[in-house]
Amino acid sequence: MDPRHAILFEPVRIGPVTAPNRFYQTPHATGFGWQRPQSGAALRGIKAEGGWGVVCTEYCSIHPTSDDSPHAFLTLWDDDDIAPLAATADAIHTHGALAGIELWHGGAHASNRMTRLPTLAPQVQPALFHLPTTARAMDLADIRAFRGWQRDAARRAKQAGFDIVYVYAGHDYLPFQYLSRRSNTRGDAYGGSLENRARLLREMLEDTREAVGDTCAVAIRLAVDELHGPDGVCAEAEGREVVEMLADLPDLWDVNIAGALGNDSKSARFSGEGFQEDYIRFVKGLTSKPVVSVGRFTSPDRMVEQIRKGVQDFIGAARPSIADPFLPAKIRAGRADEIRECIGCNICRAANNEAVPLRCTQNPTMGEEWRRGWHPERIAAYPRRETALVVGAGPAGLEAALTLARRGLEVTLAEASRQLGGRVSRESTLPGLATWARVRDWRLTMLGKLPNVQIYRESRMAADDIADLAPDHVVLATGSHWRRDGVGVVEMQPRQFPRALTPDDIFAGAEIIGPVVIHDDEHYFMGGALAEKLARAGHPVTLVTPYPQVSGWTVLTDEQGFIQERLMGLGVTILPQHSVTEQGATHARATCLTTGQARDIACGALILVTGRLPDDRLWQALQTRPNTVRLGDCLTPSSIADAVYSAHRFARLLGEPDRPPRRERPAHEGI
Ligand code: ADP
Ligand code: SF4
Repeated sequence: MDPRHAILFEPVRIGPVTAPNRFYQTPHATGFGWQRPQSGAALRGIKAEGGWGVVCTEYCSIHPTSDDSPHAFLTLWDDDDIAPLAATADAIHTHGALAGIELWHGGAHASNRMTRLPTLAPQVQPALFHLPTTARAMDLADIRAFRGWQRDAARRAKQAGFDIVYVYAGHDYLPFQYLSRRSNTRGDAYGGSLENRARLLREMLEDTREAVGDTCAVAIRLAVDELHGPDGVCAEAEGREVVEMLADLPDLWDVNIAGALGNDSKSARFSGEGFQEDYIRFVKGLTSKPVVSVGRFTSPDRMVEQIRKGVQDFIGAARPSIADPFLPAKIRAGRADEIRECIGCNICRAANNEAVPLRCTQNPTMGEEWRRGWHPERIAAYPRRETALVVGAGPAGLEAALTLARRGLEVTLAEASRQLGGRVSRESTLPGLATWARVRDWRLTMLGKLPNVQIYRESRMAADDIADLAPDHVVLATGSHWRRDGVGVVEMQPRQFPRALTPDDIFAGAEIIGPVVIHDDEHYFMGGALAEKLARAGHPVTLVTPYPQVSGWTVLTDEQGFIQERLMGLGVTILPQHSVTEQGATHARATCLTTGQARDIACGALILVTGRLPDDRLWQALQTRPNTVRLGDCLTPSSIADAVYSAHRFARLLGEPDRPPRRERPAHEGI
């Protein structure tokens, strides 16, 4: 280990328990929840194995009035929930880490779609989550009952074997709803002054300690700023005052910014490493208890700086631990260059928002620990000495080459262009997306350490070249290109746009003259990112999209609001629910999807961000050749995450039977 990093491996006491080091996997969703306990346990066990000294669960509901269906959450509603959660605590303990559990009540955020119970809140208010329903105000009997639920859940958590039990007042959930005057207008002892609004939080800390504090640490997760200025909880005023008030009551402060989850887990496009520091740095000055926070930390030097500067005692991480569960172990072994750094793309957040199991762009094994038995660092050797030619060095080709080489095949990677990385090398030049190059860089670093890989640049392969080389396996990862005919998610009819450009042309350096019109019928990052790039370059830009929102799919990556804010700030004109239907000499015609009314917009350059087509010419020529596959965008143009996953899956399963993933089947009573 680099001696400078030794401080990261010091044990830290948290109340009655001691963390073996400073690496703290803060709670994060997995998409497994109470329905898939074995998947959850395997995932958390891998984190502990990778060296995280504390590993926490995702949100764990304390009562059926806090039901987040269809999203996957844990439950400690009755004693039957104890054994499944004990499996997670055991998996974490196997590797010497502490197990933390985030007890949760969503209040007005809990839609209770499964339990169909009324939504609870400090006051009568429209339920959150855009449901046409109203939360009812908790009376004093409700508050008494609520405190009992927290105590009961804490006792069950202790029985399940957890070491750290949370009181969760972050992300706008129930205790935070009491705290913030934006959501608490009560006139009784739980409303009004900050002391009154913090009363429930104080009681929860006391109750939890009374229930389990003899052997478990009691942690508080608090949003110290909800980003609404002085109207809400903010770091300069009430956020600070609450920490002052409760200073040494919890055993650990886990602090962050909130409002929506999107603020806390901002993508790299809108935040840098350590982006929460300005908000949370005051906390350590007000408590003698250890403090943890997050900030997408992947650089060990930056981590050391956090500790030395006294910002926090632990290095909190959710996304960096998803992208690389073995981040601590790599630092400990002096292999920090091998850390698979999170790129901050928030595909993991999208999985949560779509209510599906966790997935990660950088780490294709994430979420597959139990259902496919994949390990991020270990892979079975391929039983024969065989050769593989991988054509194309984009994310899919790099991942296929690396995984095949890790299995011991002799790998040749041929790339047509001088630059390796394919689409990520281009896309990482867009504003805010520089970290995406890590998809390429990590794979190149790892490939560079393997003796059984040869990489050839400027080597466009034709079918004859492949026949001459005669490898045992051929992997085609030749990518995709953007369509020119306007066919996208909404517009299915091809159209003629004789002079239209595509993102490929922009990356190739096409000259832009006059006002720009972007027609975005893809709805992910590209349309908005190009609008930003060109607006920054001084072009007047109109972004036309058939969706009601700009970059509509990014609602799922928690980025949509930030994208819209940025584009509007740059003066980009946004024309939603319209499609570009015609390109004239000096204008583009946009047609309203609802009324069919057309309007002409001044346009020198029309850019179509629509569908993509696979670059599968080689595949067409070779598809009858045995042991030949196509992967990534050349199979199905999609996200970088899907390209990496497709390549990893192929390479890991080569020579193995392709079984369906295991599914957790509950023991159905009476069947
Ligand atoms: P993916 O996301 O599936 O990895 P990319 O578009 O990022 O796809 O990468 C595909 C890569 O394949 C590009 O770098 C491209 O230059 C390369 N490529 C395409 N055709 C050939 C070929 N015939 N020979 C070698 N490389 C090729
Ligand atoms: Fe990081 Fe993206 Fe992986 Fe999430 S999906 S952990 S943001 S690399």
